[in-house]
Amino acid sequence: MRILITGAAGFLGSNLCDRFLREGHEVVGLDNFVTGHPDNIAHLMGNARFSFLRHNISEYTYVAGPLDGVLHFASPASPIDYLELPIQTLKVGSLGTHNSLGLAKAKGARFFLASTSEVYGDPMVHPQVESYWGNVNPIGPRGVYDEAKRFAEAITMAYHRTHGVDTRIVRIFNTYGPRMRPRDGRVVSNFIVQALNGEPITIYGDGSQTRSFCFVDDEVEGLYQLFMKGDANPCNIGNPVEYTVKQLAEIVVELTGSAAPIVYRPLPEDDPKVRQPDITRARAMLGWEPQVDVRTGVQRTIEYFRTLLGTPRMALHGR
Ligand code: UDP
Repeated sequence: MRILITGAAGFLGSNLCDRFLREGHEVVGLDNFVTGHPDNIAHLMGNARFSFLRHNISEYTYVAGPLDGVLHFASPASPIDYLELPIQTLKVGSLGTHNSLGLAKAKGARFFLASTSEVYGDPMVHPQVESYWGNVNPIGPRGVYDEAKRFAEAITMAYHRTHGVDTRIVRIFNTYGPRMRPRDGRVVSNFIVQALNGEPITIYGDGSQTRSFCFVDDEVEGLYQLFMKGDANPCNIGNPVEYTVKQLAEIVVELTGSAAPIVYRPLPEDDPKVRQPDITRARAMLGWEPQVDVRTGVQRTIEYFRTLLGTPRMALHGR
């Protein structure tokens, strides 16, 4: 197959490029490097089955040649990024999804939308099943991401129903691992980088809020299986083992052996109190479930950041 991945230089996009190339497919990567970084795809540049377009998918997009799949992964995805880039976040979720769908339709390609557990907002149903419609504040600071992704799901279903495009929607839950940015702002990377630098570990709120953390290799395997074997209805892909943020901080302190103190900071507005995927659908439809427990995954991520922070040029690439 020949597939296009938007957001190819991002954390998930670049890992997804590797996964498709490993199966022998041809990959066209697209990214504008707003939150993605060239280092994430530098190792692919000599690969004859990989090509790259530096482009903003929110603008009209031309891609030469046939395509069998269009996977739309471009978007700021960390709360600090979409708070800093609210209009771009809304545009890439709306205009970027529209352009990606138009491309898929024109090429007769399968379309795959990277949606998010954020469509459930601060959930009133726990764990979250795909049939739950969510509890999102449209005008709050997170609304720019949540509503963009909710619109993206709506337009994906409209292209499916109206134009018969073969579509997939994945709702991605918190994912971590190598190629996260050191200053990405999300909890796993923050805690590990703080612990390794001996800086205070910043728990927002009292740390009783929960998240369920999926190691990137498990997540990417789920995405690949959903692309190949899934159907048009949304599917949760994440690790259902739930931790409080405080428990995560304790695991990071223990595994790094850090003497860094824990400090408490205000909880960001609309921060979801709980989050845990119900993956019954993914298990049944794809025969997929996560294999890597959080301690193993966090250990691998610590190794990644140890190497990265020990390399002066890399340690600097902030965003
Ligand atoms: N969080 C924290 N300290 C940090 C970064 C995040 O306590 O340095 C909390 C944040 O308030 C949230 C959880 O960790 O409750 C997960 O945050 P993240 O930004 O990773 O992603 P989210 O799940 O909120 O999109």
